[in-house]
Amino acid sequence: MEQSEKKKGFMSWYFGTNLLYRILAGMALGIILGLVFKEHILWIKPFGDLFVRLLKMIVMPIIVSTLITGAASISPAKLGKVGIRIVLLYLLTSAFAVAIGLFVGSLLHPHVAIDATTVASAAGKDVAKLSFSTTLLNIVPTNYFTSIVNEQVLPVIFFSILFGIGVSYLCISKDEKVRKNGETILAFFEGVSTVMTKMVGAIMQYAPVGVCALIATVFATLGAKVIGGLGMVVLTVFIGYALHILIVYFGVVGLFGISPVRFWKEAKNPFITGFVTRSSYGTVPVTMECCKNLGVPKEVYSFSIPLGATINMDGTAIYQGVCCIFIALSATGQMLTGAQMGTVILTATLMSIGTAGVPGAGAIMLLMVLDSIGLRVDAGSAVAGAYAIILGLDAILDMGRTAVNVTGDAACTACVAKQMGLLGTKADQ
Ligand code: ASP
Repeated sequence: MEQSEKKKGFMSWYFGTNLLYRILAGMALGIILGLVFKEHILWIKPFGDLFVRLLKMIVMPIIVSTLITGAASISPAKLGKVGIRIVLLYLLTSAFAVAIGLFVGSLLHPHVAIDATTVASAAGKDVAKLSFSTTLLNIVPTNYFTSIVNEQVLPVIFFSILFGIGVSYLCISKDEKVRKNGETILAFFEGVSTVMTKMVGAIMQYAPVGVCALIATVFATLGAKVIGGLGMVVLTVFIGYALHILIVYFGVVGLFGISPVRFWKEAKNPFITGFVTRSSYGTVPVTMECCKNLGVPKEVYSFSIPLGATINMDGTAIYQGVCCIFIALSATGQMLTGAQMGTVILTATLMSIGTAGVPGAGAIMLLMVLDSIGLRVDAGSAVAGAYAIILGLDAILDMGRTAVNVTGDAACTACVAKQMGLLGTKADQ
């Protein structure tokens, strides 16, 4: 009885269907509407713009709250020998991942021609003019709040991480009053972060409509020539994923004296689970089981795997690298400059700390990475059109990037355990 009542709830035919299928259906419908009705369907555009605005609305609060809680969750006490090694390896592999994404992107040039006239206005003119050293210096904000208001990503990341580390120190203070203050601050930001996750969930319910409208607008203006570009961007991203696993993960585990074949035998389980669930958090138990079977002691993986699901996102980093190139080429017709590539590596690596291990989080962080190189996703701009294409494909791209993300957590954990002489056999556990 309750069941049937539930089924008859408000728009249950919509809300009761899997979001992934709805987004894919929205994308397919958008392509058909755009191709069939051409400019007669352009009235749909505000519905797409609304989706972009909703996403942008929550980006800054998400970054601030997740980065602070993420950095605070690495307690200085645990950040001993194992912690420092694992965090460094996580960051290093993430930086490699963005570089691989940029490399395959530069090689394969995935793009669709969005609108060559809106081009220059959307291009990263400010950032392109800045030298790399100025970009580095600008990471340190002179005023944190001005940086938030002006949506300057790197200074916000910088301050938030330092603030989070500060909070983690308060939380382990021997002085009870100080410790309570730290715990209160942490609880506040954890609360904000949870609210933001809920808001993302709610906004994503609108994603099928938003994606349909955005894609319909793109296809109404550009027609079928976009289709080849879609396949190309998916192919480029997946080549990046494959290269990263083969070169970086197999290379690193091999370098640390673990057989890549043995590693993959265990790592394929979290890989597949990550692929189908699109959530690093959801895959944590399977990734832990994989580490256990590889002989990693519990005290290492119980800490490093949840931490990795929070701060280590190599697949997401590869995706950011390729997408930045795709969007720059599509919306501005120009390749990223060296300084912009440097900024992407830096921002995407740091952003991986602030990307929650839940479906679709990487696509929201992409907004910020784009922002950092002067490609602003403003409603109606060419950049927004190119971003819409990526959003339409996000479900497929997210499957691959989550699979890479969790494989990376297992690889780094096994290497650190091995390097510290802690890697035993399963029988030792
Ligand atoms: N879905 C990814 C994960 O859980 C995060 C992302 O969207 O990039 O690891």
